[in-house]
Amino acid sequence: MNESKFRTCLLLCTTLLVFAAGCSNGDAQETYDVVILNGRVMDPETNFDAVRNVGIKDGRIVTITEETINGSETIDATGHAVVPGFVDTHNHGQSAFSYKIFLRDGMTTSLSLENGSLQIAKFYEDREGGALMNYGTGVSHEFARIAVMDGVIATEDSYLYPVRAESGADGVESWNTEVPTEEQTQEILEWLHKGMKEGALMVNSMPGYIRDTLPTRELWEVQKVGAEYGRGVGVHPRFGPFENIPNEYTLGNKEVIANAAVLDQPVLLNHNNNRGWEEIVEMTKRGRENGMVIWSEQYPYTSGGPNAGATIIDPENMKAMGFVIKESVLDPSTGEYLSEAELIEMRKTDPARPLVAFLRPQDWPAKWCATPEMSIVNDSFSMLDKENNFMPVETAYEDYVGHPRIAGSRGKCLRIAREDEIPLMLVVNNAGAFPAKMLCASGIEQMCERGKIQEGAVADITVFDPEMVTENSDYGPGKNGLPTTGIPYVLVNGQIVVRDSVVDLNVRAGQAIRYTPITQ
Ligand SMILES: [Zn+2]
Repeated sequence: MNESKFRTCLLLCTTLLVFAAGCSNGDAQETYDVVILNGRVMDPETNFDAVRNVGIKDGRIVTITEETINGSETIDATGHAVVPGFVDTHNHGQSAFSYKIFLRDGMTTSLSLENGSLQIAKFYEDREGGALMNYGTGVSHEFARIAVMDGVIATEDSYLYPVRAESGADGVESWNTEVPTEEQTQEILEWLHKGMKEGALMVNSMPGYIRDTLPTRELWEVQKVGAEYGRGVGVHPRFGPFENIPNEYTLGNKEVIANAAVLDQPVLLNHNNNRGWEEIVEMTKRGRENGMVIWSEQYPYTSGGPNAGATIIDPENMKAMGFVIKESVLDPSTGEYLSEAELIEMRKTDPARPLVAFLRPQDWPAKWCATPEMSIVNDSFSMLDKENNFMPVETAYEDYVGHPRIAGSRGKCLRIAREDEIPLMLVVNNAGAFPAKMLCASGIEQMCERGKIQEGAVADITVFDPEMVTENSDYGPGKNGLPTTGIPYVLVNGQIVVRDSVVDLNVRAGQAIRYTPITQ
């Protein structure tokens, strides 16, 4: 079709649409695409909490009413909460199979904002029109270092562990054992500029993995790149979770906060699950009161999910921090703890293998779930086959191998809310509305119309049963990826993706969360 024909057709189509809309307005009863009836509508931003009917049309919430409404599709939400779709700022793995697991935990938006990706345009192209949920990524400082210092050009965050393994294939991981030259530093920053121009949501950095070879000036320059484009920074801070004075975990956060404060830059402090977390919660609250855009996240588990080769489970480091290895490091594919000798061997032969390391006190997860304005994430990885390809979306939940947080982070906090009588609105806020609000305040406009059950908002909606919702994923074979139950419906951009607790793989309604690329 040539351009003028196309224009004529477009004009005709538009006229017909307007005519059709005019007709339907004349009818006594408007028909919505979807109606969600008799649910407990909860909107953290306005603190609205009442039983209502919700009408959705063209991807948006059009009405919230006590009146009877009709739709082409009807969801009976009696006894269920109807809340803003859950937003995760910490997903390393964004495969279709991961999205399928995430959806069952109520998620509607998946963002890689800890490590980020390297080839931003490709990340978005690969998902365009075909994603089960909304998706986005920041640009990765670590991958830029690996590209410049080890010559391994990564694509996206989903491949973090194999990229790390490949970076050390020659026996040296230069990116975390060497200080870059001035010339290399400039090249690293160029990769970040490229990512910003391609629409990355933030600059992302993981000083925790380059603890000893990252000059403060390099992190400052990295944050400056984000600030130059008016964008935020997401950081896994420099020091380990349980290091002692003077290298405390909190201090690593503070170098990022200091840079961000003088740059007037939004800052996301990734997985604030470590010793001193209360101090960081207090700092972020004070920062917000003083006008900063700053927040932290948590995943509600006492264990972390490092790859076998990660510094954090270096046997010598672990012993120095007071951990007993054979009681702390578990292989989720077998459910068995590793001996020190087995861990040392695995670090050499299979450094990309996902493990589970128990490092935290038992009572912390419930405290995190009850902390106001601390967002919930799952810090999950995609499951890859032996050739490092994504597992197909049809893969059974039972076949996922990795940390159980991938499937259960929201279900767990919602269950704990019921058991510990935490206000439901607080958890609903932390799961979706609050991170959306922070991302909006960071300048990401597509998130300003999400994270709310309000007329006019994008219909990213999660429907769950507060009396029944629970996580089911656990350690051990066949259990790592078991989906949360009690979340029967999830809508992404107004389309029903989870129906009767089954993910409809044909509904690919996800949209890109992205800055407009800068072409020059
Ligand atoms: Zn991390």
